Amino acid sequence: MQDFSQRLQNTIARPVQVSGFGLFGGIDVTLEFCPADPDHGIVFERVDLNSSVRIPALIEYVVPKPRCTVIAHQEASVSVIEHVMAALAGLQIDNCLIRLNAPEPPGCDGSSLAFVESLLKAGIVSQDSPRKCFVVDQTLMVTEVENIGIGAQPPKTSEYEIGFILDYGDGPIGRQSFQTQITPELFERELASCRTFVLESEVKTLQANGIGKRATPQNVLVFSDQGLIENSLRFPNECARHKALDCLGDFALLGCRLAGRFIATQSGHRTNHAIIRKIREQMIQSNAPATIPLPTSCFTPPSQHRAAS
Ligand SMILES: [Zn+2]
Repeated sequence: MQDFSQRLQNTIARPVQVSGFGLFGGIDVTLEFCPADPDHGIVFERVDLNSSVRIPALIEYVVPKPRCTVIAHQEASVSVIEHVMAALAGLQIDNCLIRLNAPEPPGCDGSSLAFVESLLKAGIVSQDSPRKCFVVDQTLMVTEVENIGIGAQPPKTSEYEIGFILDYGDGPIGRQSFQTQITPELFERELASCRTFVLESEVKTLQANGIGKRATPQNVLVFSDQGLIENSLRFPNECARHKALDCLGDFALLGCRLAGRFIATQSGHRTNHAIIRKIREQMIQSNAPATIPLPTSCFTPPSQHRAAS
């Protein structure tokens, strides 16, 4: 793969921890973000097992599970990685070893905010190797059923854009949309704090299946027919923004920088994975994805790296 030299790879300056419990499984967990060498990529490590297992955060390691993104390798798995992945992708951190002592990262408030705050506290540092980039060079589509799908197009005025259209009919979530360029600054401001959500009517079934037993309206947005329960929204379209955050986290499973415009309609993790599998196949077939030049109008100035405070 030919390298773009538009930006160098990034890692963090020092290890930093986030503790809590998993939103799905409810198990107490400490997660540690650790610096990693160039071309290491994002790798999760289960340190609670007899012999620790490392699982690369790549589409090839994804196993199908409802409502979240799970990667697995050698009998070990890590579930619900998407909000951690979004934090790293949003801040353009390319190389990081994520050590955790449970099968799931802490859920925190249901957004990427706690991870972003920790990573910024650690400090982001450039490495002396350019980040490889895949540029979408033709229109791609994946469609699950009518009204559920993702389209990708070549980049135009900005390098990377994600839009999401959500339709929950006439209920309290209703119809929402959100579209943004993906830069560290916009990610921090527009996406990072947007929380996961659920309908009150789904909660009983989920909890009967062992999912979300420690979840409360404070760590998951719960919508009844009357509206949001015991919480307040950070943005009027917070649900659509959270779905865009999920897309960013899932699209990072490609394992390289991505340039293109993505519009998702009603998609969930399965559809997100499907388009990344398609792009991954195209990358392998073309064998030289990064030879496609970015339009000059796409170039974004290198992000300012924030030192540890
Ligand atoms: Zn999510």
